[in-house]
Amino acid sequence: MAGLLFGTGGTPHSAKTGSTIDGILRIAELGLGGMEIEFVQGVRMGEAGARLVAETAARTGVKLSAHAPYFINLNSHEPEKIRASQERILQTARIGAICGAQSIVFHAAFYLGDPPPEVYNRVKNYLVEIVNRLKRESIRVWLRPEIMGKASQFGDIDEVINLSTELEGVAPCIDFAHWHARTGAFNSYAEFVSILLKIKERLGDKALQNMHIHFAGINYGKKGEIKHLDLKESDFQYIELLQALKNYEAEGLVICESPNLEEDALLLQATYSKLLKTG
Ligand SMILES: [Zn+2]
Repeated sequence: MAGLLFGTGGTPHSAKTGSTIDGILRIAELGLGGMEIEFVQGVRMGEAGARLVAETAARTGVKLSAHAPYFINLNSHEPEKIRASQERILQTARIGAICGAQSIVFHAAFYLGDPPPEVYNRVKNYLVEIVNRLKRESIRVWLRPEIMGKASQFGDIDEVINLSTELEGVAPCIDFAHWHARTGAFNSYAEFVSILLKIKERLGDKALQNMHIHFAGINYGKKGEIKHLDLKESDFQYIELLQALKNYEAEGLVICESPNLEEDALLLQATYSKLLKTG
């Protein structure tokens, strides 16, 4: 049974140090399945370091993904910022691939007051250039635009799924907490199922077996996300989400981004295995 693997967004708090390698070792000790390397402040890892990360991940069996820097806006009105954004995604993919990461997650753009269909086309065109470049460099990773939590951010569920249908090598990063915060809804079994059915209809069964999920408790207001919370302090119906993922046989990596990281990742993993046993 492949099922879902659970892990943390970044090195767990209880790791010996904040390094990626100590993070992977701690994930393995805790009995978790994966970790997302957070290049969110910049890709500060060289090729040699990435090879050591890959060895550690292979030895411990921990699955990796990588998160690109926050300073990305494929809808910037300044051409040099577009180039820099593309370069940050490319660099995350290059180093992430050496680490053995299969998925590269990124926040694609801000609307900056532009009509969303225009922003979509711009993001798509710049993303095509990135996809082609990676192909030329023979780098095989999934590029995953993330569902974002704020109304000002490009990345609602349809935008992310549409990009995934249109571009080869692009697949969604389904951030259930962000989507809940953005809509004020999507916090029940039936609503979680509707998301999974949409993925299945638009992207096929294969997409449900190749999921990359972000998950956390979340605090939100009219404009969407305010901040992440630990699951038990939040209103998130995580058991219902896990039940939906189980019933629709979702497979892939679930990255927990609650402030307490590994505590909630372990809670999710334990809850999910209980559901698997009880049916
Ligand atoms: Zn993110």
